[in-house]
Amino acid sequence: SKGTLLITGGAGYIGSHTVRHLLEQNERVVVLDNLVFGHREALPLDRVSFVEGDMADAALLEKVFSEHQPEAVLHFAAFAYVGESVTDPLKYYRNNLAAPLTLLEAMQRHGCKRFIFSSTCATYGDPVRIPIDETHPQAPVNPYGASKWMLERVLRDCGHAWGLKSVFLRYFNASGCHPSGEIGEDHNPETHLIPRILMAATGEIENITVFGTDYATPDGTCIRDYIHVCDLASAHALALSYLRKGGETVAVNLGTGRGFSVKEIITTAEEVTGKKIPVSFGPRRAGDPSELIAEPKLAKEIIQWEALHKDPREHIESAWKWMSGERHGRYSA
Ligand code: UDP
Repeated sequence: SKGTLLITGGAGYIGSHTVRHLLEQNERVVVLDNLVFGHREALPLDRVSFVEGDMADAALLEKVFSEHQPEAVLHFAAFAYVGESVTDPLKYYRNNLAAPLTLLEAMQRHGCKRFIFSSTCATYGDPVRIPIDETHPQAPVNPYGASKWMLERVLRDCGHAWGLKSVFLRYFNASGCHPSGEIGEDHNPETHLIPRILMAATGEIENITVFGTDYATPDGTCIRDYIHVCDLASAHALALSYLRKGGETVAVNLGTGRGFSVKEIITTAEEVTGKKIPVSFGPRRAGDPSELIAEPKLAKEIIQWEALHKDPREHIESAWKWMSGERHGRYSA
């Protein structure tokens, strides 16, 4: 029988889309979010138990675990600004590596042995081969990627010591929004390509700067594998089924296996919005590999997951619906 799921960071971008998907699957959900980056408005508060607080608060965790006895934890709560992680590494190791230890201690105490972890392709660092499969060497090039990679190691060690089973979901470039336009991506500051392009389309920012035009790619701009947030959500549900069936700890890439350049994304956004997007061309951004494309075969084999929304046009359309809708891409003014 299905137990309660504890979702850390469930009020954030990917977390909130996953919560919505899990509720559609009739799962019972408790969200723990400190609302540093999450949004209360992203949650259907009539259908989830919401606990506002921090996963590093041991007393709070004890209370949540005693009250809800969660069957599994889906762990989204983390900081995710790569550039900031370079200038303030301790903030990232504190929040992404140290804070989850308190969560894991509560899990160990309460015998909760299923963990689904929002990991990242940043654990691979600069790719030595494309597409990137799960056996690719792990050599993160920034503290953000390193903090995720180190927590994977911690989770494996907990597996050996007390039987924790984990699925590490290594996301490529999350993008798009729920097709309803009711929930979406709202980061402050917003640094991601697609929302920034759309902010340039609405005039909210003056232009979009393309970071680097001299990469060794066909049009000189970086290539990324854009994975729709609703596909990420379904992967979490499938990872959970896998663990419920007794699956062992495993890492799987979540990507489409296809890459698109920054220029291609901008052109598609112009077609979707019907607007000419003001573009400026700038230098490379530190730490950006020229190309990141997933080999997603293993996810299909192990958790029966496959991306359904492989065309970034669909991602841009759904993000544009959110951006041009009632909330103008923002939960609160
Ligand atoms: N990018 C860009 N201008 C921007 C934001 C991003 O040219 O204002 C590029 C960035 O260099 C990368 C791609 O778009 O090649 C995706 O970047 P994003 O920050 O969305 O995701 P990341 O790859 O850092 O996870």
